[in-house]
Amino acid sequence: MKIAIAGFGAMGARFATKLQAAGNEVIGIDQWQAHIDAINEFGLKVANDADEIETFQIPIYRPEVLIDEEFDLIILFTKAMQLDTMLTGIQPLITAKTRLLVLSNGVGNVEIMQQHVTDDQILAGVTMWTSGLVRPGMIKVTGSGSIRLQAIGTAPIDDIITVLNGAGLNVTASTDVLTDIWRKAGVNSVFNPLSVLLDANIAEFGIMQNGMDLAQQILNEIKAVGQAEGIKVDVPGIMAVVKNTMAPENAGAHYPSMYQDLHQGRLTEIDFLNGYFANLGTKHGMELPVNRLITEMIHAREDLVAK
Ligand code: NAD
Repeated sequence: MKIAIAGFGAMGARFATKLQAAGNEVIGIDQWQAHIDAINEFGLKVANDADEIETFQIPIYRPEVLIDEEFDLIILFTKAMQLDTMLTGIQPLITAKTRLLVLSNGVGNVEIMQQHVTDDQILAGVTMWTSGLVRPGMIKVTGSGSIRLQAIGTAPIDDIITVLNGAGLNVTASTDVLTDIWRKAGVNSVFNPLSVLLDANIAEFGIMQNGMDLAQQILNEIKAVGQAEGIKVDVPGIMAVVKNTMAPENAGAHYPSMYQDLHQGRLTEIDFLNGYFANLGTKHGMELPVNRLITEMIHAREDLVAK
């Protein structure tokens, strides 16, 4: 299959290596010039658990440079707040046969996709794979993961699932991907902003009883707005994931991505997590004061550090 990965950061690059190794034709699309230059000059460097480094030759371009290319599948792996700009940039590459799969975190990505392509071209999913950017041109990958995905309209997905599974990506078809997306966004709406606002890594968060109370309040509000929207939010199930992640045998001195983004002077996905839920509440005439305040505090932090 001819596949473009639009958003060739930590995750996009990891998926690209697996899809290329399985025999697919893979091209990266990105806007970060230093990263593009490093990969095109030295190859994509991938460090594993043992810090052994493998080099992959995967061509990567800015979207405006790619003309007359046609893809069977474009996987969108930008940060959620970069998705709209990326879709605008790749618009000339999208033909009637192209299907687009969005795997970025957060809620609202499907709505952004719907402003650019028809439902019958959109697939959406959540992934438990992880990856980290080390520097331009280099990622570090550990562990394994899985993906759950579903077509939003009538796009066929069986061939895509076969190709992704052929690359070892461990995909299952979801029958309710919006609920999956909300569940993952619920977990991220706890860990990500609270790690910043409490200045705590996952292991430290696990010993804060007041932090756990805040998590419950965040999720109770998300559940309420979910009810208004017709989406079931399993708060005990999400709290179980939160507690399991923080359990001493699982937790480490790991900082969630929002903490890392702010510490690297980057903007965050807050408007696609707590901010999305707070705004959806407003649409339904509901107040989500905890999620609203958290969103405003993260934005204030962005004012201070993000470029
Ligand atoms: P990333 O920040 O590594 O890359 C996203 C985009 O930002 C890429 O286009 C990348 O080139 C660009 N970028 C990164 N650093 C930059 C810099 N310093 N200057 C300019 N541009 C820069 O994001 P990611 O970790 O690959 O995540 C992509 C999506 O997947 C997000 O929605 C994220 O929440 C989600 N996700 C990430 C992980 C993970 O472990 N990283 C796991 C699951 C889901």
